[in-house]
Amino acid sequence: MALVYHQHEVVIVGAGGAGLMAALALRGRDVAVLSKLHPVRSHTGAAQGGIGAALGNMEEDHWEWHMFDTVKGSDYLADQDAVEILAREAVETVMDLEHWGLPFSRTPEGKIAQRKFGGHTKEYGKEAVRRSCYAADRTGHMILQTCYQQGIRHQVKYYNEYMVVELLVESGRTAGVVAVSIADGQLHVFHAKAVLFATGGFGRMYEVTSNAHALTGDGVAVAWQAGVPIEDMEFFQFHPTGIYRLGILITEGARGEGGKLLNGKGERFMERYAPSMLDLAPRDIISRCIYRELREGRGIHGQGYVHLDLTHLGAKVIHEKLPDITDFVRTYLGIDPVKEPIPVQPTAHYAMGGIPTDMWGRVVVDEKNKILPGFYAAGECACVSVHGANRLGTNSLVDILVFGRRAGRDIARYVGENEYPPLAPHAGEATGERLARLREGRNGSGGRAESVADLRETLQREMMEKASVFRTSGLLAQMSEKLFELRQRFQNVVIQDRSTVFNTDLMEALELGFLLDVAEATVAAALARSESRGAHFREDFPQRDDQNWLKHSLAYRGADGKIEFKYKPVTITRFEPKERKY
Ligand SMILES: Cc1cc2nc3c(=O)[nH]c(=O)nc-3n(C[C@H](O)[C@H](O)[C@H](O)COP(=O)(O)OP(=O)(O)OC[C@H]3O[C@@H](n4cnc5c(N)ncnc54)[C@H](O)[C@@H]3O)c2cc1C
Repeated sequence: MALVYHQHEVVIVGAGGAGLMAALALRGRDVAVLSKLHPVRSHTGAAQGGIGAALGNMEEDHWEWHMFDTVKGSDYLADQDAVEILAREAVETVMDLEHWGLPFSRTPEGKIAQRKFGGHTKEYGKEAVRRSCYAADRTGHMILQTCYQQGIRHQVKYYNEYMVVELLVESGRTAGVVAVSIADGQLHVFHAKAVLFATGGFGRMYEVTSNAHALTGDGVAVAWQAGVPIEDMEFFQFHPTGIYRLGILITEGARGEGGKLLNGKGERFMERYAPSMLDLAPRDIISRCIYRELREGRGIHGQGYVHLDLTHLGAKVIHEKLPDITDFVRTYLGIDPVKEPIPVQPTAHYAMGGIPTDMWGRVVVDEKNKILPGFYAAGECACVSVHGANRLGTNSLVDILVFGRRAGRDIARYVGENEYPPLAPHAGEATGERLARLREGRNGSGGRAESVADLRETLQREMMEKASVFRTSGLLAQMSEKLFELRQRFQNVVIQDRSTVFNTDLMEALELGFLLDVAEATVAAALARSESRGAHFREDFPQRDDQNWLKHSLAYRGADGKIEFKYKPVTITRFEPKERKY
């Protein structure tokens, strides 16, 4: 099949909050937004609880307090210069959303309403503060609709259901991407001066996850394959309250409104672990506490879950402030949260790690922050790093919009100053051949034919057992061997659908390859880091070790497939690392 060529000054890959915000910052330029989903199906639309900004609408608040909470929440691994930008620019970003028409929930006098969220405090840790701006429990949905509409208004060019599979780098400059059109299987080469990856997270490497099916780490893996390192992959956040077994998220906003966690004895167990913040301690801490309760036999009826109790909030609060999650619980569990507690367990939720960038979204490729010209990343696939070892709730929506916009602004500068890079005459052809082999069943080395679903299920189950909330060197080493085996078997994957039209079999095979990449980086980084910090908890090294590990990891894929690490220092400006107490 012949390739189809396009040329745009800027190619943005991903149409969640980060990609759309960058496109808006590039208004008036020649920008193409490629997305494997229709834009409003991006995972940003699933965000429930809110976006954090120190507006001070309900009580006194300051961006400095927001900055402090974010740094402490990150277990002191976040880069503080970047966190300062996040906390400062959050305020103007929320005001922009309001001016674009986002229907926030309101106070009686008409200001944007705010509620409590995990780890967000006043006066540097004194008590919980109302900082999360929300639109009931559909904040992300409203953000996505608002930004998409603004994009249409400003004539952004969308290529919907285009799946990017390769990043083109020519003579040390980014030259574009290769993408498959899902509708007809056609391969397209996009020649560009600048490329922004905003492809979201990769929670799908775990069995129980809050993440949509499409979150398979494509951008991170594609960048890695192009020689870019990936940062801090050992830090993957588990959110404490996923619906038992299903993983579907029950927003932390439910606890922000006063919901309580209870164990099988009916105890509010967080009183023992975080006497001051209780159920609003950060997620890494609560997830570990839930697992401790379960391990010690205090699950509900001895089973693998605890209860999230909202019954004391009353029907009015539940229906007005948490309508969507109420619906989920009724639909998926047949339980009415107004009358009964909800069975919950920790669910794989958020990737703190990703493609390393500076504060303008420019991708950096070594520990000295050397830039790869023309390549940018923003949103969950990127690592600035504002979340360090553990992200606070409501801070991702801030991150994607603040840094999406900053990336857009710097791209505008870059494309104004630079000509198109050269494009190799055979760009995309090798990828075309690889895809054709897969589709036509010519894949493999003649071994037993493997199915994508089998391999994916094994990967997700094993990652859950061996590389999730609690880790040990033994389990991680076993996982590493498992991944080696899965990688071998992946060479023999055969798909059933031979057609070119909406070939979801082919997409899933490609996504499985990406998941294997990000899982390999996660496990290798977790094995290397012999300390416990934020979401990375090593039972064999239970203490944080600032002496040796107050640093970011950069994972490189060597030519022989082996993973190697370099490390870079954490930027500390205002807050020296301290013990984290809540
Ligand atoms: C259930 C849930 C609730 C959440 N609630 C909150 C909350 O209340 N507050 C908060 O701050 N955070 C929340 N988060 C986290 C936050 O929503 C996400 O981290 C954030 O929205 C990610 O935005 P993004 O723009 O980086 O990516 P996404 O919104 O995930 O978008 C990724 C985009 O990349 C595209 N893409 C991916 N791969 C490819 C490819 N190969 N080719 C082309 N396109 C591709 C997709 O089509 C999509 O458009 C929540 C997350 C979940 C899962």
